[in-house]
Amino acid sequence: MELTGKSLIGSQQGGEGKTFRAYEPASGAAIEPAYHSASAADVDAAAQKAVEAFAQYSRTSGAARAAFLNQIAANIDALAESLIERAHQESALPKPRLKSEVGRTSGQLRLFAKVIQEGSWAMPCIDRPDPARKPPKPDLRSCLRPIGPVVIFGASNFPLAFSVAGGDTASALAAGNPVIVKAHPAHPGTSELVGAAIRDAIRECGMHPGVFSLLFDSGVSIGAALVQHPAVKAVGFTGSLGAGRALFDLAAKRAEPIPVYAEMGSTNPVFVLPGALAARSQELATQLFASVTMGAGQFCTKPGLIFLSKQAPAADFVRVMQEKVSQAAPFTMLTSGIRSAFARETEARSHRKGVTLAASAPAATAGESFSTAASLFETDFPTFLAGSDLSEEVFGPTTLLVRYDHPSQLLEAARGLSGHLTATVFATDDDVQKYPELIAILENKVGRIVFNSVPTGVEVTHAMIHGGPYPASTDSRTTSVGSQAIFRFARPVCYQDCPDAALPAELQNANPLGVWRMVDGELTRQPL
Ligand code: NAP
Repeated sequence: MELTGKSLIGSQQGGEGKTFRAYEPASGAAIEPAYHSASAADVDAAAQKAVEAFAQYSRTSGAARAAFLNQIAANIDALAESLIERAHQESALPKPRLKSEVGRTSGQLRLFAKVIQEGSWAMPCIDRPDPARKPPKPDLRSCLRPIGPVVIFGASNFPLAFSVAGGDTASALAAGNPVIVKAHPAHPGTSELVGAAIRDAIRECGMHPGVFSLLFDSGVSIGAALVQHPAVKAVGFTGSLGAGRALFDLAAKRAEPIPVYAEMGSTNPVFVLPGALAARSQELATQLFASVTMGAGQFCTKPGLIFLSKQAPAADFVRVMQEKVSQAAPFTMLTSGIRSAFARETEARSHRKGVTLAASAPAATAGESFSTAASLFETDFPTFLAGSDLSEEVFGPTTLLVRYDHPSQLLEAARGLSGHLTATVFATDDDVQKYPELIAILENKVGRIVFNSVPTGVEVTHAMIHGGPYPASTDSRTTSVGSQAIFRFARPVCYQDCPDAALPAELQNANPLGVWRMVDGELTRQPL
């Protein structure tokens, strides 16, 4: 497919605004074609089309939407080769990683298709009437319904799985909402290819063209205009704390505030307990080094804080980490902005009072403009407790060892944490019995507690939670990965004494979809 460099407004091309290009991270060279930024008129047109589409799309059956999602998945799989090629050029992510990301993207779409085909996700609930009661009890039925047009911001670090047809888009479409994507400017070509796959699926499945639009922009004005547009009813975002918070604040200041589901990353603290350290200190260091540097450390689940004892077995851990970091080959970062932020933040950390640079890899090769080197920092427990900056995310291949004198300090550290996506506990059964409070504290701090494994690698399943208290996300009750992500883009509606034919199928007497329903407090699939 030939790339056009234009936004997609429903089935039509957007206009010709100012242009920008993507850059090859490996060489810094600009990539053709130039992309035209969308205009305020494009934002309005996409929003109006989404409103028109919502009237139809929100009433489609789960089966029809499942067929649509499966068609998008099939179209993406069919494009795999050109997608991998273009995404590799725009992100420098290795091709095998991008191949698995294509599979993850189509797999997510198929997961949501299954969920909506089955239908119980809408949580239908029926309280039968009692006309004899005084006053008479009405017939009450409720279920989840789509929220309205949703704006999604693609992430830079997953050009496919958290981007145009990623989990946010899949879950919003699954729930019955039109989607407008603001493409990430680092991978516009990949975005356009995926946008075309969705546009084709819309045509193939006979959906309203306004169900999907894709807007390009390098800068914040189009994203801000989308969030402020009165037709938009919710926002999904993955990226930095600064941008996520700015969008959340914009949405809160609207005449009609709307929910913003922003996943903004975290430092993902790791607690190495004494028994686990004594049993396998070198193995843990090897595992954690691989996790810290996976994807050049550009994962929101990268372990950026490691609590480690000062006792003897820790010496082996530190030695192995130092060896691995100092021998690490240079890493290519996704964008020049991410590279310079990483350089700035690691430079500041190396001059930070009470923090030492425990190891660093040789400087990156000249000429590779987005290239950077791994580093390992170390501090003591009092310095860590005194400086909240040391808990902040540094996006890239680096981590901070915090050396504790006594395991009781782990509890103190855990109590002081802000919200994170994950916390990891390396522990023996004996460690867990000695420090039960650690788990209880972490439950209030993170979305996922990982035992004896690294936090990178997020399964896309029904039980997965990828979220957490602020600042990891703007709504700790939700997840942006896994099938429960659908709940962000639906809201409960109650129907009182509603005629059967006017009810959503999930609530009709005959239970035509055969879904699980809560009827007078009991779960059943029986018709009424
Ligand atoms: P970003 O700066 O958060 O940008 C993400 C998207 O939001 C881009 O499309 C960006 O548009 C847009 N945006 C940013 N500020 C905005 C504003 N005030 N109003 C409207 N739109 C706005 O993320 P990034 O460019 O991918 O990387 C920068 C940093 O984000 C990294 O260094 C890292 O710390 C963090 N990050 C976190 C995750 C995560 O998984 N949570 C993933 C990637 C990056 P423009 O680029 O056109 O301005």
